[in-house]
Amino acid sequence: MSFAALDSLDWPVFEPGTVWLVGAGPGAPGLLSLLGYRGLLEADVVVYDALVSDALLALANPAAERIYAGKRGGKPSPKQADISLRLVELAEAGKRVLRLKGGDPFIFGRGAEEALALVARGIRFRIVPGISAGVGGLAYAGIPVTHRDTNQAVVFLTGHDESGGIPAAVDWAAVANAAPIIVMYMAVKHLRSIADKLMAAGRAPADRVAVVCNAALPDQYVVDGTLGDIARIEPMLKAPAIVVVGAVGGLRQDLDWYVGALRENGLG
Ligand code: SAH
Repeated sequence: MSFAALDSLDWPVFEPGTVWLVGAGPGAPGLLSLLGYRGLLEADVVVYDALVSDALLALANPAAERIYAGKRGGKPSPKQADISLRLVELAEAGKRVLRLKGGDPFIFGRGAEEALALVARGIRFRIVPGISAGVGGLAYAGIPVTHRDTNQAVVFLTGHDESGGIPAAVDWAAVANAAPIIVMYMAVKHLRSIADKLMAAGRAPADRVAVVCNAALPDQYVVDGTLGDIARIEPMLKAPAIVVVGAVGGLRQDLDWYVGALRENGLG
């Protein structure tokens, strides 16, 4: 197999002094977009997050400087303002800056904050979307985010806000009733209180919950439960994890293709 044919495509030019905000996808390197891959080959510097896999970073131009801008091993995370400033400084120094973020940069990824900081300094940028954990990560567990028999709508929710607590601005009654399926990012820490709030707002304790930990990674595993029994499943959960409330979680009984396939073929 060769990627040579890709060279004939009309790729956008990665100009010095610009920033590409690239979504890395949820884990498996194969889920990076072709444009993201192209950017990695051309970047002078890659500024990457904690959730970006080493295998993906290894695809970058060997000469590219790699700068870590995430939280790992319990160290305090750099402030968002400092990361944005770093991007600005690198671009102003004439580098091709590739900001590599887990999943999609515009879904709970602070991509917009970073892009706005670039706009404020007149720095040109490009957004390269990625496969979000709440869609592609669930797909790796055989969970479709919509299915005609179960839901016509879906809610994406973050499990905590700036303060580290449950997001304060959320209207729980509205969230609970807006859609049969609720997909939650960053929700492990406060899962029990979130479940309580959803039940207080009318969701049934028997509502299915599926939690996909390390989605699209070799150590992916899924924990099944209900809104009413979070206390039982809580000890089994490990971040990063994506939580889905609602009936689509049950489809994985038939659709769970990844775990077996991974062992046999090394897919991903
Ligand atoms: N921009 C990212 C989300 C960043 S917030 C995206 O679009 O996916 C970080 C949260 O994303 C994690 O707390 C977790 O809820 C989810 N997440 C990211 N990667 C994941 C993975 N491989 N498996 C499970 N959840 C993941």
